[in-house]
Order: sequence, then structure tokens, then C-alpha cells
Amino acid sequence: MANAYPIEEHRFDVVVVGAGGAGLRATFGMAAAGLNTACITKVFPTLSHTVAAQGGMSAALGNMGEDDWRWHMYDTVKGSDWLGDQDAIEYMCREAIPAVIELEHYGVPFSRLENGRIYQRPFGGMTTHFGEGTAQRTCAAADRTGHAILHTLYQQSLKHDANFFVEYFALDLIFDDEGACRGVLAWKLDDGTLHLFRAHQVVLATGGYGRAYFSCTSAHTCTGDGTGMVLRAGLPCEDMEFIQFHPTGIYGAGCLITEGCRGEGGYLTNANGERFMERYAPNAKDLASRDVVSRSMTIEIREGRGVGKEKDHIFLHLEHLGAGVIQERLPGIAESAKIFAGVDVTREPIPVLPTVHYNMGGIPTNYHGQARRARNGDANDLVPGLMSIGEAASVSVHGANRLGSNSLLDIVVFGRAAAEHCAKTMQPAAPHPRLGADALERCLTRFDRLRHANGKEPTAAVRLRMQKVMQSYATVFRTGETLREGIVKLREVRQSFKDIRVSDRSLIWNTDLLETLELDNLLVNALVSIEGAANRTESRGAHAREDYPNRDDNNWLKHTLVWLDDKDNIRFDYRPVHLFTSGEADPVPLKARVY
Ligand SMILES: Cc1cc2nc3c(=O)[nH]c(=O)nc-3n(C[C@H](O)[C@H](O)[C@H](O)COP(=O)(O)OP(=O)(O)OC[C@H]3O[C@@H](n4cnc5c(N)ncnc54)[C@H](O)[C@@H]3O)c2cc1C
Repeated sequence: MANAYPIEEHRFDVVVVGAGGAGLRATFGMAAAGLNTACITKVFPTLSHTVAAQGGMSAALGNMGEDDWRWHMYDTVKGSDWLGDQDAIEYMCREAIPAVIELEHYGVPFSRLENGRIYQRPFGGMTTHFGEGTAQRTCAAADRTGHAILHTLYQQSLKHDANFFVEYFALDLIFDDEGACRGVLAWKLDDGTLHLFRAHQVVLATGGYGRAYFSCTSAHTCTGDGTGMVLRAGLPCEDMEFIQFHPTGIYGAGCLITEGCRGEGGYLTNANGERFMERYAPNAKDLASRDVVSRSMTIEIREGRGVGKEKDHIFLHLEHLGAGVIQERLPGIAESAKIFAGVDVTREPIPVLPTVHYNMGGIPTNYHGQARRARNGDANDLVPGLMSIGEAASVSVHGANRLGSNSLLDIVVFGRAAAEHCAKTMQPAAPHPRLGADALERCLTRFDRLRHANGKEPTAAVRLRMQKVMQSYATVFRTGETLREGIVKLREVRQSFKDIRVSDRSLIWNTDLLETLELDNLLVNALVSIEGAANRTESRGAHAREDYPNRDDNNWLKHTLVWLDDKDNIRFDYRPVHLFTSGEADPVPLKARVY
């Protein structure tokens, strides 16, 4: 097969796959440390999904009143429904403060207070004094924070001479005979050539897989390519059953209306005009964590109190904030509401619905970004040469539910941590060991098979069926019965992928082949997610089982590890949740999660 595809070889110290916030923060940190660093990305860096992030990035700067990173840590552990690893959460919340200040120095134009300090807004689940007060902790650049961060990180990467390979699609990881990751094979989309990127560390920063669902806030590029590559390599993914539904996707369009709107004082109402969150979360109300608000909205709709002709959505009100506040703090939201819902937010409410938004699960890593092989559930069993960061990874700081504004934080803190780890442990320009003659064979065979796929099923039709199954069966509320039904249907969809048709045989800008490769990745992500959801017989965070409505710490205070073999057989194992810290902060003891 290797002869059928001439391959150009490149040698680097580190190859980062992905140029979103996580990939760029790692890329420029590594380049700045003198490592010869390549960043491969399937879209132009500043088009990465991070650009869409609106509301902001959390850090206990204390600019708006008293704050403490230990309170931030408490909120994050509670938000995760105690599934997050507390040593990793401790690290993230402590490092948040220098990470934001660094970003500011690199050039991120954060919104300011009169006194010149960075403006911070309230966000769901963020409190002071271990759950007593409301924290104003989320640093924002109006409602375009991701855009500001991504552009700044790209400029820093260029400044430090990182090597960019733009519009290269990473196909698969390449391993040596001992199981160490030695590089990645990529397809250059504009001329059809194949490229082997050799590296001593490959860092997967490929983002989430929101596009496994019909209605999601994610970019079309969020197809779980990194997690797909890892599963194909016989390595595990972690906690894939935990999928976040954001309460406020625009009804019918799915685009996000940031939680920052509720942070600025926006609120939800049902058909009776009632502010129903007061019943479900008497303290936090509209600023309870996302899983709680999404479930409450779903119950209101189910019980006949939804708004609109079909009583199938909810209203989000901003009218009372006034045009001045909206213009200053939420200009992008006003624009999105106008374009996608035809609503003038200064006069009328926005129709909203819970929409798939974030993947808590991913490639298991420690807080240096090193990927876990986790044989026999051993958390210290790492994959040599492989790292992962950002939404593709499960570090695990979000556990069963992510708090809003903790993802921009995650990508920056762990992108930075990965760079620091490589700078400390790697020698620049070390020689690359020889690869076995057949190291690329498996990857090339798959590529060639899909390129020549000559079945009956168009890619778009199979993708739509997968998205509809996930939307209906692996949704806000789940039961064993609906999940089992969903698994049968999804496996039928997976089967139909074997009969896929790629109509274009060319290798140059073949979007049909590209979407088929992405669909292959989406399907394995979807499969392990829905199987994981059926397997976990408890309710925790975003995973709400109606047949097991309670959290079950006796049996389920553990991370799910999932493997998928080439026949799509699933295997589960588990590793304990880290309930310990380094000692700078006390661990947060287990208790019921009430807002
Ligand atoms: C609308 C919206 C608003 C949000 N707002 C906030 C917010 O205010 N605060 C917050 O904390 N979080 C927010 N989030 C979440 C946050 O934006 C994301 O979790 C985060 O940006 C993910 O960053 P990332 O670097 O991990 O991945 P991404 O930004 O998705 O980047 C992935 C990169 O990988 C590349 N890639 C993927 N596959 C391949 C492949 N096969 N080959 C080559 N390259 C590949 C892509 O080209 C891209 O460069 C929001 C999310 C959405 C959807």
C-alpha cells in the first residue's frame, strides 16, 4: 500500500495536532522553549472552534470583590459532581491566575473596569466562600473572548517561529513496535499529498465531537478526530457518557447564547411567565450549573409549560438590561439573536432550548497532558510519546459536568502545562528512531479503502441518521430502555457505514472523502458515548438516568475507561477518581450537590 501513496517525511521535536486555543497555547510555549514544533490543522488556526467562545474565562483574580482560587476549586469539584480529579482541579484553579495575566501581557484585549483592571462577570456555579455568595470570576473580552484569545495565541505562535501546516488532515497516529507514539500521518487537502510527521511527542488538541448530534453549538469541524484516532490505536477514552447540554441554544438554529447573558442578569421564563428556576435552584436560580438548568427547562417543556405554538421551548429575557448594557457587554448576542431568531433583544425574549455543547470525556491524561494507557485501570500507565489537551482530553477537571468559563481556562492552563512538561523533559533535535516497515500500513489501508468506497450509502445520509439517533436516545434524560434501543439503532447506522459511497476519487480538495473520514471518527465517538451511558447505572452531573435518579458513590465514584476493537466490540474498565490534592488546598469532601 505504501507504494501507492508517496509520502513526504518531516521531522520535528513535537507535533501538535490542532490549532484551537489548546493547540496554539502548547505550540507557542514549546516553540518559545526552543523545541522544533509543528502545528497541523485541518482549518486555518483562527477559524478553529475556540473562536466561537463567547462568555469568558474563569480565574479568581478578585477584581470585582473578594475571591480565592480555593473557592474556584470548590465550585469546580462540586460542578463536576465529584467526578473531577481534585489534584488536576487544584492545579487548574491555582494556575488560572498567572495564566490570565500572561494572556493579558501577550495582548488579549480583555474588557476593563474604570480602574483599568480586567472586568469579571458572574457565571453559573461560581461562588465565594465555598458556596455562600456569588462570585464575579469570569474574565471577558465583551462576548467575543474566544476570538480575542485565539488571535493573540496565533500571533504569539508566529512570533516564536512555530511551523504551521494548515489544511492538513491528520489521519492516524503512528506507533513503533513497542507501542510508543512516533508521529502522525496527514493528508494535505489542497494538493492531495500524504505527509508523515515524525515527533518525539505528538499532542492531540483536536477538540470535541459535538457534531455527533443533530443540534449542537459546535463548529462543523468538531468531529472527534483525536478521540477517533486514539480508539483506533487500541487506546482508551474516558468518561465519554458525559455530554453537556447548554441551556440556551437558539431554538431551531442551535447557535449559542452565552451563559454570560444570565451572568449579566438575564433570566428564563416558561409559558406562564414564571421564573421557574427559582423552584429548582432556590439559591443560584438562573445561575445554577448547566446540567441543572437544562434538566429544569426540559421538565417545564415536558409538563406543558413550554412557550411557542408547540410549547417546545423557553424564553430568555434580556430586555430589562437596557440597550446600553447589551451594547457594551453582549453585542455579539444581540447580533446572533437578530440573525438566527429575528429577535430584537432590547424588546423581546430569545426563544431557547438545551443544545449539545461540550464533551466532558476524552483522551485520559494526567495534568502534564501525558496520555494514559491505563492498563488494568492503572492511572500511571502512560503512552510514551502521546499527549492530549483541551476538549479532546479528559484530564479530568470537568468530571461529570463542566462549569461555564472553565473550558477556555482548561485549554490555556493545560496547553501551557504541556509546553512546560516538554520543555523540561525533552532535548531539542534528538534523533528519531527507525520505524518498522509496516508502521503506516494500517492507516494507509483504511485511507485507501474509504477513498475507493463504492457502496450505496451517501455520507450525508449516514451522518444524519447517526445525529438523529444520538439526539433522541442519548439526550438530557436517559433510561436503560431508551439507551439500549439507541444502541441497536446506532449499531445499524455503524453497519451501514460499511456500505458507504465516496463519489469523488480525487485526492485534491475531496470534501466527500474528508467528510467520510470525519464520519468514521464521529461514529466511534457516538458508539462509546451511548454504550457508556447505558453502562453507568446512576445519575451524576450531565448524565441523568431516570431509572437510576441518584448519584451512587458506592458503586460509581470512578472514571469509565472504554476501548473499542476493530470489530466495534466494547470493553469497559475503571480508574479511581483522585480525591486528593497536592496539599496546597484541602480536598473537597463528598456531599449532595444542591444549588
Ligand atoms: C459557541 C460556543 C461558545 C463557548 N463559549 C465558551 C466560553 O465563553 N468559555 C469557555 O470556557 N468555553 C466556552 N466554550 C467551550 C470552548 O470554546 C471549547 O471547549 C474550546 O474552545 C475547545 O478548544 P480546543 O482547543 O480544545 O479545540 P478547538 O478550538 O475545537 O480546536 C480544534 C483544532 O483541532 C484541529 N483538528 C481537529 N481534527 C483535526 C484533524 N483530523 N487534523 C488536523 N487538525 C484537526 C482543528 O482544525 C482545530 O484547529 C464555548 C463553546 C461553544 C460551542
